[in-house]
Amino acid sequence: MAMEKLIKSDAEWKKILTPEQFNILREKGTEVPGSCVFSLKAEGVYQCVACGNPLFFSGKKFESGTGWPSFFEPYSNEAMILKEDFAHGRKRTEVICARCEGHLGHIFDDGPPPTRKRYCINGIILKFIKK
Ligand SMILES: [Zn+2]
Repeated sequence: MAMEKLIKSDAEWKKILTPEQFNILREKGTEVPGSCVFSLKAEGVYQCVACGNPLFFSGKKFESGTGWPSFFEPYSNEAMILKEDFAHGRKRTEVICARCEGHLGHIFDDGPPPTRKRYCINGIILKFIKK
């Protein structure tokens, strides 16, 4: 089933997002590492702050040591879109919210088993819903 999209103009997003959230989601910014630390012990779901799309389960989070919230598996394959990104002269894979098409972070191949993936996500654009 295709994700129902939430499309807004930049002016509309600016009314509901903080400047920091807008910079990451709509302008592909990156937060300073350590900006947003979530406890590994808390159980719940991480949602996109802009549209409420569930992105990750707490149980799929791990401590990567990077200062960015890191996950090894998404909430579902439909939750996000992966797209090649050649910014800053190197090839990376961008992670995009499937609902609002906001930039979330990047995915790397150096995560823990079983997936070996590391979803490196900006914490400022995550909303944690405790179980
Ligand atoms: Zn979203």
